[in-house]
Amino acid sequence: MFSMPNHWQEELLLFLGTVLIAGLAGTLAGQLLPCLLLGLLVYLGWHLYQLTRLPHLLGQDGRNGPRPMGLWKGIIRKIQDLHASHHTRNRGLSLQLDRFRDTVNTLPDAVIILHPSGRIDWSNPAAGKLLGVMWPGSQGRLLTVLVPDPVLGEYLASGDFVSPLVVTSPANRAKILSVFITPLAHEADRLMLVACDITRQYYLDAARRDFVANVSHELRTPLTVISGLAEQLNMNVPDPAILSRSTELIVQQARRMSELVSDLLTLSRLEVQQKSTPDEHVPIAELLTMIVEEARTLSGTAQHVLHLDLRSPEDLRGNAKELRTAFSNLVNNAIRHTPNQAEVTVRWQVDNTGAHFSVTDTGEGIAPRHIPRLTERLYRVDASHSRDTGGTGLGLAIVKHVLERHEAELEIISTVGRGSTFTCHFPPARVI
Ligand code: ADP
Repeated sequence: MFSMPNHWQEELLLFLGTVLIAGLAGTLAGQLLPCLLLGLLVYLGWHLYQLTRLPHLLGQDGRNGPRPMGLWKGIIRKIQDLHASHHTRNRGLSLQLDRFRDTVNTLPDAVIILHPSGRIDWSNPAAGKLLGVMWPGSQGRLLTVLVPDPVLGEYLASGDFVSPLVVTSPANRAKILSVFITPLAHEADRLMLVACDITRQYYLDAARRDFVANVSHELRTPLTVISGLAEQLNMNVPDPAILSRSTELIVQQARRMSELVSDLLTLSRLEVQQKSTPDEHVPIAELLTMIVEEARTLSGTAQHVLHLDLRSPEDLRGNAKELRTAFSNLVNNAIRHTPNQAEVTVRWQVDNTGAHFSVTDTGEGIAPRHIPRLTERLYRVDASHSRDTGGTGLGLAIVKHVLERHEAELEIISTVGRGSTFTCHFPPARVI
């Protein structure tokens, strides 16, 4: 069965009511037609009146809107529903906009939107720090005027943005930036410039390149000696004295290569493993006694005078193998960089600031300018002396890594001609 919506029924009643009243009045007055016409006019006038109130409702002024009667009930409800959904959509959009603004404003990378003329349309706060482009002060200004870097200017003019550009930050010369430019998806004539701070990565890459070059050089030297000697031995039968000297040299160079490879492997193992594992009880007195004994053997005929000064009975929590490598590297360095019969003191002491392992020698000492660089891989004060004494230039880099994995720090105090003290400071939490 046909069912009519409520407001249509109400409207029909209203219409019929008007017609009925007008008809009745017309019949009583004997003026049926004019009264019916008047009734219809009243009905029409009512709707016109409601229409004049409609703009109030559209302007969200519900009190002065049309009266909710008949058909108008449906219209009013529809408009109110539309208002409500508009309001929800607007709130969603403005929330999204706020979120986007927050994201771009907290982004560590500089973002600049460029007008086709090269003028700045918009930029985020990081653009101020990295490129010196301040918002809103820079709005409408030419980027090439604000950032007068010829390399960036050429890059922008070229229009070829396939590979990013690497430039020094105009706002901070110590920073290296990688600049990407791409057209906006919905406004292709506008460009978005993104500049990322790649300083750390840039220097890491440079250090890695240098390291590979240095290691290749370190390995090539003994290899050249070994192959040269082998060729000589192959060509003519040498007399026994030369043969003995040559084989001795070959063994020496092969040992040097093997030590270098072994230290490289230790270093890469330490770098690959994120955390020192597992933590164990390391008996310090036992460990240091063993290291000092080995150092005596290493010193051999050089007859260094070694003292072991165990001032505290406490032990350490850590990786015994790694700590042994680090401590013996420091003791062996002291032996290798001090003259024969010089004194070397190995000390272990615990106080309320933590545990301290130190090696003091009375050797050549180190000039202050070298000290901050000693833990760099392959850094040596005197490369030929280091090689002659069997050094690889990786010992202190290994020590630094091991200490980092034990939340410890290396302190180097040295006076040229008087000697050096290398101290490892461990936090109290590592003391047992
Ligand atoms: P190496 O194998 O060359 O000793 P290290 O990384 O252990 O490499 O040390 C780096 C450099 O630090 C050494 O080449 C040396 O110049 C300097 N050095 C290390 N320990 C001492 C020390 N006890 N006395 C003087 N110089 C030292």
